[in-house]
Amino acid sequence: MQELTHYINGEHVTGSSGRFSDVFNPATGEVQARCPLASSEEMDKAVAAAAAAQPAWGATNPQRRARVLMKFVDLLNRDMQKLAEALSREHGKTVPDAKGDVQRGLEVVEYCIGAPQMLKGEFTDSAGPGIDMYSMRQPLGVTAGITPFNFPAMIPMWMFAPAIACGNAFILKPSERDPSVPLMLAELMEEAGLPKGILQVVNGDKEAVDAILDHPVIQSIGFVGSTPIAEYIYGRGCSNGKRVQCFGGAKNHMIVMPDADMDQAADALVGAGYGAAGERCMAISVAVPVGDETADRLIEKLVPRIEKLKVGPYTAGDDVDYGPVVTAAAKENILRLVESGVEQGAKLVVDGRDFSLQGYEDGFFVGAHLFDHVTPEMDIYKKEIFGPVLSTVRAGSYEEALKLAMDHEYGNGTAIFTRDGDTARDFANRINIGMVGINVPIPVPLAYHTFGGWKKSAFGDLNQHGPDAFKFYTRTKTITSRWPSGLKEGGEFHFKAMD
Ligand code: NAD
Repeated sequence: MQELTHYINGEHVTGSSGRFSDVFNPATGEVQARCPLASSEEMDKAVAAAAAAQPAWGATNPQRRARVLMKFVDLLNRDMQKLAEALSREHGKTVPDAKGDVQRGLEVVEYCIGAPQMLKGEFTDSAGPGIDMYSMRQPLGVTAGITPFNFPAMIPMWMFAPAIACGNAFILKPSERDPSVPLMLAELMEEAGLPKGILQVVNGDKEAVDAILDHPVIQSIGFVGSTPIAEYIYGRGCSNGKRVQCFGGAKNHMIVMPDADMDQAADALVGAGYGAAGERCMAISVAVPVGDETADRLIEKLVPRIEKLKVGPYTAGDDVDYGPVVTAAAKENILRLVESGVEQGAKLVVDGRDFSLQGYEDGFFVGAHLFDHVTPEMDIYKKEIFGPVLSTVRAGSYEEALKLAMDHEYGNGTAIFTRDGDTARDFANRINIGMVGINVPIPVPLAYHTFGGWKKSAFGDLNQHGPDAFKFYTRTKTITSRWPSGLKEGGEFHFKAMD
């Protein structure tokens, strides 16, 4: 069985803590690798290497730093197929979906190539007599990021591309469930010309995370994952005086108005609800048709589409709609929540509980489920299921639908499907959710905008990527300078009187 490593100071380093976790092939259920779980001593080594390498990197001009990212983009394109297959093998998502994971990260890298422009400071000439004032953005030093299993390429790149473009060293603690692609990304960054120690990967679990949270040298922490862990990391990281941004879970509602194009809405819901087996923080997990007639029409269109979904391993070809979920525990959790929905009175319109795939009986495949008549008190409504399960909550009016989405504790993404511009505009203005789609089910902002939710979906002031990333990974220094402006006479300066 393959034993994975850490990537510290430009070397693959075998884990020395004696602790490992299993990495599965979710399609077969087999353990395919062991991931080392770092001790705080191993984290110390990475931090020391980062601290030694960062000053020279921070002093390298931004254009040269950007050139490394340019070359990295070429290498990502060169290795796209290899990266996507490695990703699918550990995560379970289809190869086209895995390529999308790499591609969306690559787009953030491309955006960060604009670092020289983004890092330009501000200058005020003659702020007073002979006085100039200017501000500059300087790197923080050693930064770190903790990432989830569901986008093992994109989310690490969301963090390390801007961190490194800004002149920081970055330590990545990826998900222990699919750590191979993050290791490959670190190798490619060095092939692109990044000095050793600037991007390191330390694998691990809570022990490694706590070592990051408490390490005095680490200046900032980025986190993406579930809300309870986001809250923990935000609290402990901030109380240790670090700059922290944490992005958590989601329960994304899609409101379907009576005037919506129902075929378009149904297609959108199937893609957004079941794609990647529902393991996306921007997946739609709640459909909110307005009015019973809309609900009946929508369900009628959804059922045949859902029943047609092709579930299979990533090796079965590009026409597979979604693959297995990441672990047996994730599968059990999803099926437990489905049972709770049935027990609590929701109507299971498409029942995937008995789903099994011939030849892959031990894989972590979950059939597609559709619930109707879900109410806000039910667990399937309150909790993030993170699986191929769509819940329908019928709303009596637009106001009721809006209030439903607003009252949910999560506020990552949402969408409205309507032909009415007035309703769409009202929704976009009033909703208390960070990312809004109008006839777009998964409104993921592109790299040059920022990504982030509201309420319990995000903690901290700044979003991911876009201009916010350059703020998060730098600190501002403002310099006020006065130079003698008098004529030099007899070896002495004569200063003009200040007003
Ligand atoms: P997770 O919270 O279980 O794990 C995320 C990271 O935290 C991993 O690196 C993991 O090793 C670490 N971790 C886990 N338990 C820990 C603990 N007790 N103490 C310290 N660290 C711990 O999340 P996941 O299952 O990997 O990812 C799925 C979750 O991520 C979902 O809730 C999803 O909505 C969320 N997510 C959010 C966004 C977003 O941008 N808001 C994006 C992707 C995923």
